[in-house]
Amino acid sequence: MEFCSYIYKKDKETHKKEEDCNKCIKMVLPYIRGELDNDQTEVFLEHIKNCTSCREELDIYYTVEAGIKQLDEKKGDFNIAGSLHEYINRSYYKLRMIKLVKILYYSLNTLVVTSLIIMLFLQFRIWFY
Ligand SMILES: [Zn+2]
Repeated sequence: MEFCSYIYKKDKETHKKEEDCNKCIKMVLPYIRGELDNDQTEVFLEHIKNCTSCREELDIYYTVEAGIKQLDEKKGDFNIAGSLHEYINRSYYKLRMIKLVKILYYSLNTLVVTSLIIMLFLQFRIWFY
């Protein structure tokens, strides 16, 4: 009985993983073409960090896409593996910058609201005391 439920649980985990992979594989080409939004990019990068089969998929697609582009532009000496690495790094950098800007924006907002409240409070003191 215990063993059965273990098998069942494992089966569910595998199923969940397959679902994630299917979603991820659909994002490979849009990712390479820069068509994913920031949230999708984050999900995608997180998945390929832990999933070798999807990472391989990305390698293959990227190589093909870069190869075709190379043929179009007639440039020979192009480091495809290195450029994918750089492309992924740039995505991480972009996501980090967006997070930083968001944090700055919210802290600035909080600061402005807080100072408005303080100014209002001081103004009230001048009016009523
Ligand atoms: Zn996967």
